[in-house]
Amino acid sequence: MADNSFDIVILGGGSGGYAAALRAAELGKTVALIEKDKVGGTCLHRGCIPTKALLHAGEIADAARESSQFGVNASFEGIDMAGVHKYKDGVISKNWKGLQGLIKSRGIQIIEGEGRLVAAKTVAVGEDTYTGTNLILATGSYARSLPGLEIDGQRVITSDHALVIDHVPASAIVLGGGVIGCEFASAWKSFGTDVTIVEALPHLVPIEDEDNSRLLERAFRRRGIGFKLGARFSAVEHTDTGVRVTLEGGETLEAELLLVAVGRGPTSSGLGYEEAGIALDRGFVTVDEYCRTSVDGVYAVGDLIPTLQLAHVGFAEGILVAEHIAGLPVAPIDYAGVPRITYSQPEVASVGLTGKEAAQKYGADNVKTVTYDLSGNGRSAILNTKGAVKLIAEKDGPVLGIHIVGDRVGELIAEAQLIYNWEALPSEVAQLIHPHPTQSEAIGEAHLLLAGKPLHVHD
Ligand SMILES: Cc1cc2nc3c(=O)[nH]c(=O)nc-3n(C[C@H](O)[C@H](O)[C@H](O)COP(=O)(O)OP(=O)(O)OC[C@H]3O[C@@H](n4cnc5c(N)ncnc54)[C@H](O)[C@@H]3O)c2cc1C
Repeated sequence: MADNSFDIVILGGGSGGYAAALRAAELGKTVALIEKDKVGGTCLHRGCIPTKALLHAGEIADAARESSQFGVNASFEGIDMAGVHKYKDGVISKNWKGLQGLIKSRGIQIIEGEGRLVAAKTVAVGEDTYTGTNLILATGSYARSLPGLEIDGQRVITSDHALVIDHVPASAIVLGGGVIGCEFASAWKSFGTDVTIVEALPHLVPIEDEDNSRLLERAFRRRGIGFKLGARFSAVEHTDTGVRVTLEGGETLEAELLLVAVGRGPTSSGLGYEEAGIALDRGFVTVDEYCRTSVDGVYAVGDLIPTLQLAHVGFAEGILVAEHIAGLPVAPIDYAGVPRITYSQPEVASVGLTGKEAAQKYGADNVKTVTYDLSGNGRSAILNTKGAVKLIAEKDGPVLGIHIVGDRVGELIAEAQLIYNWEALPSEVAQLIHPHPTQSEAIGEAHLLLAGKPLHVHD
C-alpha cells in the first residue's frame, strides 16, 4: 500500500475543490486533488455550463420565431436535439480541456478514483492512501427527490437526465420553481415543450425579492409557461404516454415527463466523515466563517456546506480556504454580497438584501425603495424586453439590495455587486455616467431616481 503525503489533500474536483487546489498550488503548497469522475464537477459537466448552453439555443430558437418583428425574414423549423447536444458538449469539452491543462500546469496531482476518509486527514482511494497536513472536503451535492418520489431516469427525471434527453419533450411538469426548475422550464418552452411548473411556496424563485418573482411570473405567463403556486406534490403514476401527477387537494396534471427540481442535497454519506468526527447537520458539513469543520485542519467548501449552492461561492470558499491554510489574512465571505442569477428568459438577478430582509434588519421606516421600469431604457426597448431595476437603500444611507429582471440583465449584476459591497450611497452612484444606449443605464437611472433626481422617468 503506497502512502502519499501532501500539504493539502482535496476530496472532490468541482468548483470548490479545484479552486482551492489552484490557489493553494499558486501559494507553493503540494496538493493532491481526488476526483472520481471529471474535474470541473457539477458546474462544468451537469450544471451551470450545459444549462446555459441549452438556454442560449432556446434564445436562438425564439429569435428565429420572432424575427419578423424585427423586419428579418427567417423561420423556425425545429430543434435538432443532436445538434444542440453537439454544441453544448463542445463548450463543455473545450472548458474541461482548459481546466485539466491549468491543473497540470500548476503541478497539482490529480488522483482518479473514489475517495473515502479513513482517518481525520487521510483519504483512501482503492489500495492507496493520501494524507494531508490539511484536508479539504469538496464532494458537492446531488439532485434530491421527495419521500416516495422515485426517479426512474426516463419519465421521472432530474436535471442530470434532462441535460442529455435526446428529443424535445412534447410536455413536461417541472416540480420546483427555484432556479433550476425555472431555467429548464424556460429552455424547454423555447424548444416548443408545453411546460407547467408546480411550486409549493407562494412564488417562483422564492428566495428572491417578491417583486422580482412577480415580474418573472408575469413574463412566464406571457410566454405561455404554466405554473401552479402554493401547490404541493402528492403522487406520480405512469400512464401510456407519460406521467400523471396528483397534487395535494386532488388536482391532476399529465405530461410526457416530470422533472424533479426540488433542491440539492450534500454528498456526505458513506464517505467516513462522521467516523472521522466531522460534525454534520442534516448531511451538510458544518463550518465556521473560515470554512473550518469541527476537526482541526479539516475544511469543507461548496455545495457540501450550508451556504449558497453556487459555483462562484464554491470558487470563493476554495480560495479563502487555500489562503487561510497558507497563513494569509482572509476576510469571511459576506454571503448577502454574492450575486445570484436565474438565467431564464427573462433573467432574474440580484445582490444584497430583499425588501423583506432589509425591513427586518433596519426597520421598515428606515428603508427606501425605488423601481425603475425597463420601459424607459432604450437598449431594452431595442431588445424588446420588459422588466425593472428595484433598489433598496437605508434611508440616508447606502444601497442595501439591487434586484433586476429582464433579458440579459445577469451581466448587470457585476456592477450592482460593486455598489452593494462598497456600501455606495445612491448619490455616489448617481454621479457615475453610464454608456448610452446600454441596459446598464437602467442601474444609473434607478440611482438617479433614488438620489431624488430622476431623468427618464414619468412623474
Ligand atoms: C442544473 C444546474 C444548474 C446550475 N447552474 C448554476 C449556475 O448557472 N451558476 C452557478 O453559480 N451555479 C449553478 N449550479 C450550481 C453549481 O453547479 C454548484 O454550486 C457547484 O458545482 C458546486 O461545486 P462543488 O465543488 O461544491 O461541488 P461539485 O461541482 O458537485 O463537485 C463535487 C465533485 O466531487 C466529486 N466527488 C464526490 N464524491 C467523491 C468521492 N467520494 N471521491 C472522489 N470524488 C468525489 C464529484 O464527482 C464532483 O466532481 C447549477 C447546478 C445545477 C445542478
